[in-house]
Amino acid sequence: MIKHLGKHVNQEIQIEGWLFNKRSSGKIRFVIVRDGSGQVQGVMAKQETDPELFELAGEVTQESSIRVRGFVREEPRAPSGYELTVTGLEVVGGSEDYPITLKKHGVDFLADRRHLWIRGPRQASILRIRSEIEQAIRDFFYQRDFILADSPIITSLAAEGTTNLFEIDYHGEKAYLAQTGQLYSEATAMALGRVYNFGPVFRAEKSKTRRHLLEFWMVEAEMAYCDFEQNLKVQEELVYYIIQRVLERNRLDLNTLKRDISKLEAVTLPFPRLSYTEAVKILQDSGEDFQWGEDFGAPQETLLSDHYESPVFVHRFPADIKAFYMKPDPSESRVVLGADLLASEGYGEIIGGGQRLDELEPLQQRIKEHNLPEEEFAWYTDLRRYGSVPHSGFGLGIERTVAWICGLEHIREAIPFPRMLYRIRP
Ligand code: ATP
Ligand code: MG
Repeated sequence: MIKHLGKHVNQEIQIEGWLFNKRSSGKIRFVIVRDGSGQVQGVMAKQETDPELFELAGEVTQESSIRVRGFVREEPRAPSGYELTVTGLEVVGGSEDYPITLKKHGVDFLADRRHLWIRGPRQASILRIRSEIEQAIRDFFYQRDFILADSPIITSLAAEGTTNLFEIDYHGEKAYLAQTGQLYSEATAMALGRVYNFGPVFRAEKSKTRRHLLEFWMVEAEMAYCDFEQNLKVQEELVYYIIQRVLERNRLDLNTLKRDISKLEAVTLPFPRLSYTEAVKILQDSGEDFQWGEDFGAPQETLLSDHYESPVFVHRFPADIKAFYMKPDPSESRVVLGADLLASEGYGEIIGGGQRLDELEPLQQRIKEHNLPEEEFAWYTDLRRYGSVPHSGFGLGIERTVAWICGLEHIREAIPFPRMLYRIRP
């Protein structure tokens, strides 16, 4: 693999990959090969290369699949630090008129060809970073003895309200694609203590923004015997750990993306905490027309996060703008013990979480107030009937996190095949 070339300096190796690009300058030919793990330049000097091989290197076309043999050389000027002196080249599958050339294309043109667009170095770097982030998350929870307890994707519950649900026909019964696995994770937390679920969730978002997908991946942790503050601590440690892992293992990818790495290095623990009420004051002081009780939109989130180098927690939101299961703050009942984590550099909310309402009667009351079907929530309220405990959890959106860490303008690049308003293909 190209990623491991450094272990084979001065040895002859074979790479199985695709031709990204080729160049010629007088008596030297260059083939740039990619294999999914990275890119390397192969070099052939006419005088020192078999004529047939030299000829073939001039004919092979963009995105042909190729096997390349060669000696690994250290080359400080190459992005990866290595180069190949080519000794063999074999075309496995040809590629005529590859549609994505190396000039700039419009976003719609590329999005229509997403199945090919992902081959480009920028997209491949993003997807490798996404993979590292997902692995870091799994490692983080594994190291802390969380149990992975996956939640169902088909559900009869509308946990976050009914406005953006995808409805499906479940053999004649109405069902939905899950918007969150949280309620199920509360049940598994009462069985297993500290749990997380990790999977796709679905929201029929009706507005077109750069932060919303209709299908996205969320990791949700739920912890029994965990209060509001302890929950924040897990969240900030998780986000910090993710950043360190990417900084440590994806330097080349971050460079490919021209990411300003100093911004990621500036993130430190603990993350600042700002109450909603304080946040409203900051907004009003900077001239925003914003009243206590309103929910933040993207511009407000950006304005708030601009005050900090690290992500910032905004906590204790008005109960009226948050989900029914949030626990009211005992010292101020109009607000709930919920917090959103706003990423730095204006990337907006990446985590929503909080302490859950753990007493039966107030929870039943909230379900009524929200006009939710009580029978559907009977199993959920059972959790407060049989050994209820203080518990808390949170959900982190993977694509928003990828977009932030990679410095992307739009969330569509953060997932291999984005599902957006008006786009379901490819
Ligand atoms: P927003 O107000 O930005 O729509 P939300 O309050 O609906 O977010 P939550 O329900 O708290 O978000 O979901 C938890 C996390 O899931 C969010 O912090 C975010 O990272 C992510 N998320 C939510 N909706 C989307 C979406 N449509 N596309 C991608 N990620 C999302
Ligand atoms: Mg939303």
